[in-house]
Amino acid sequence: MKIDTHSVDILIVGGGTAGITVAASLAKKKIFSSITILEPSKVHFYQPLWTLVGAGIFPKESSEKREADLIPYGVDWIQDAAETFLPEINTVLTTTGRKISYRYLVVCPGMEIFWDQIQGLKETLGTSGVVSNYSYESVESTWRAIHQFKKGRALFTFPNTPIKCGGAPQNIMYLAEDYFRKVNIRDDCEVVFASAGNSIFSIKKYADALNIILEKRGIISWYRQNLIAIDGKNKQAIFKNLDTGDNTTLAFEMIHVTPPMGAPAFIRRSPLANSEGWISIDKFSLQHTKFPNIFGLGDASSLSTSRTGAAIRKQSPVLIENLISLFRDSPLTAKYQGYTSCPLVTRYGKVILAEFDCDGNRCETFPFDQSKERSSLYFFKKHILPLLYWEGMLKGRL
Ligand SMILES: Cc1cc2nc3c(=O)[nH]c(=O)nc-3n(C[C@H](O)[C@H](O)[C@H](O)COP(=O)(O)OP(=O)(O)OC[C@H]3O[C@@H](n4cnc5c(N)ncnc54)[C@H](O)[C@@H]3O)c2cc1C
Repeated sequence: MKIDTHSVDILIVGGGTAGITVAASLAKKKIFSSITILEPSKVHFYQPLWTLVGAGIFPKESSEKREADLIPYGVDWIQDAAETFLPEINTVLTTTGRKISYRYLVVCPGMEIFWDQIQGLKETLGTSGVVSNYSYESVESTWRAIHQFKKGRALFTFPNTPIKCGGAPQNIMYLAEDYFRKVNIRDDCEVVFASAGNSIFSIKKYADALNIILEKRGIISWYRQNLIAIDGKNKQAIFKNLDTGDNTTLAFEMIHVTPPMGAPAFIRRSPLANSEGWISIDKFSLQHTKFPNIFGLGDASSLSTSRTGAAIRKQSPVLIENLISLFRDSPLTAKYQGYTSCPLVTRYGKVILAEFDCDGNRCETFPFDQSKERSSLYFFKKHILPLLYWEGMLKGRL
């Protein structure tokens, strides 16, 4: 077999939110002779929109653009998937047998969703009221289930792994509950947030505001409960109590599942991974802890911050500045401070905007109390953020 070999200045593994953002900003600087994105997918999704798609506000197609249309000017795209990292010889091997050597490597392939880890989920997802906003294929089933709901128990789960956007599992619950009120069936429904976590949110100020909402609206929260199996046909879900180990079976009319997630398999088995499988990077400089010419960011990285596109918006300039410093033999002085953000959509038309760092400090943008539900913040989530994403971040303008 003839091996297809390439040699590039900068190789970016993963052309998603992080990969395109970094490539677009780097290309504008015109410092490196070649920048290449290695990305297997023909399409890219603005995943934050899936919360609103699942609530019937947008069709799923509005979250999608062709990858070819997003590849920044001056950047090459190899449509293939990384399979093996050989960092000692600055080389990546792909699934179709390409061999790509690089001078600098940026790794950002996002997260893998472990649908298989919940027994019975794959077989039933999208039918029998078993739904999830966590994939393009299943997101419209969420709206179908909410729209068709008449009475009974609506369950919303949160797994015992890190996930994309910690607020998304409860966002869809608030929207569903609000919809049940709008169509006058709320008295016939029980809405339950069944979470493997300890509380509704990790930052006290937002948790306090959310707990008031849960209480006022009669939403039941049930913590330390990890969904382990679903019987779609009989509409039953089994949860394991993470403290006692006891299992509880709950009947449901609909269940929105946030599945367990982790770093992709090809990262977990690679020399780039830490003991938990994430790309092992320094939390300030974003440089790999073993291989200095490798950087990482985004959902697959070892950063302990909550995994969001908003976090990537702050990680990307730090990574770029440090990559350029390395290229110029200067010290790496740029520091990521762990910023992340999560719009909590508490109703149709209302949002609380959580912004915080990995030490739990609030880092709010606006000069008002962001833990209050506001229609201005909903407008920001629904109309402004998508625009800032497609026209700002992905074009290297933020
Ligand atoms: C329902 C939902 C709601 C969300 N809400 C918000 C929100 O309100 N605000 C917010 O900021 N964030 C939100 N997020 C999270 C946000 O979408 C992610 O944090 C962000 O997209 C992560 O970017 P990434 O580049 O790390 O991964 P991705 O954007 O997922 O991109 C990873 C890319 O790597 C590619 N890839 C995978 N394997 C390989 C391989 N072997 N070789 C090469 N490439 C590969 C993939 O095809 C993909 O294109 C939400 C996510 C979901 C699912």
